[in-house]
Amino acid sequence: PNGAADMAETSVARAGRLAARLTELSRAYYAEDAPEVSDAEYDRLFRELEALEADEPSLITPDSPTQRVGAPPAESFDSVDHATPMLSLANCFDDEELAEFDRRAREGVGTEALAYCAEPKFDGTALNLRYEAGVLVRATTRGDGTTGEDITTNARTIRNLPLRLAGDTPPAVIEIRGEVVLARSRFDALNARLEAAGQKAFVNPRNAASGSLRQLDSRITAERPLAFMGYGIGHVDGTDVPAGLYDQLMQLQTWGISISPYVERVEGLAGCRAYYEAMAERRADLDIEIDGVVFKADAASARAELGFVARAPRWAIARKFPAEETTTTLNAVEFQV
Ligand code: NAD
Repeated sequence: PNGAADMAETSVARAGRLAARLTELSRAYYAEDAPEVSDAEYDRLFRELEALEADEPSLITPDSPTQRVGAPPAESFDSVDHATPMLSLANCFDDEELAEFDRRAREGVGTEALAYCAEPKFDGTALNLRYEAGVLVRATTRGDGTTGEDITTNARTIRNLPLRLAGDTPPAVIEIRGEVVLARSRFDALNARLEAAGQKAFVNPRNAASGSLRQLDSRITAERPLAFMGYGIGHVDGTDVPAGLYDQLMQLQTWGISISPYVERVEGLAGCRAYYEAMAERRADLDIEIDGVVFKADAASARAELGFVARAPRWAIARKFPAEETTTTLNAVEFQV
């Protein structure tokens, strides 16, 4: 009996250490845009905590990193509560896990095969755009998923982001969600400029996008060649948007929102696999960095059936690409908890 008690104590202590370390790493990554370890290393620690909690659900605390999204908004910006939460995505790293996701989703919906909206997973930072009567009134970061940072002035400087939606009949209110990114081709030049000015260079385009968007002086944001890529709709009022996710993306495009040219509606697991392979081949040629692809159950009825867990929808999954060498030595940093 003592042995079992020791084991239990060990996993409690281990889970506690992992949770504390992941919380620290998240703060550096989200609040300071200065990651301390590689994403692969972070993901490894995260998965270890997930596995411990799956074995022993009593280890799950409400503030566990597995139950939370991002990090709380910085105090230097006004906080804004999201009309609908901005969640994260479940992720998987191999084909087996993808098949498991598809199996569970089909079981949950009670169907033989599901259609998915397949999209690139942009490696940038999430942004929510609120348009009222077609006019951009507020732009908010994801923050902790419930409350984000009001960065409207900065967002207005993003050149491909419409300040007014195209078309004659905009919805009374619509929240458009997407990723703010910095093209690879612009990243090196930006870092060279920062270094020449004696400032700190960014670790990768993702951190550069996030750091540039969250500047206190919007003139600095304006000098950064950021772009907005739409991937979804949050709250909507006063109009009907298409029920299918793929059709929603097409609708966003008619309003003047940039979306990826590679979005597709695919059928079943076979369709997902083929899409993943095709995008993995394309990856190196894309100027906007992607770290995987995302599959989302396309039909509204399927999504309603599947719902959400604490930090992510059950109807979507990110199939991540294998880790690439980063532009710094971060990957060499191995943290032992
Ligand atoms: P995530 O990046 O794994 O997935 C969710 C996000 O993907 C969304 O919020 C959205 O912004 C983005 N996204 C891009 N394309 C999308 C699309 N087509 N559709 C929907 N969403 C799309 O989420 P996360 O919860 O922010 O972060 C977890 C990841 O961040 C980890 O896997 C880890 O790699 C990294 N991280 C690293 C460190 C570190 O120290 N290196 C710390 C914290 C987090």
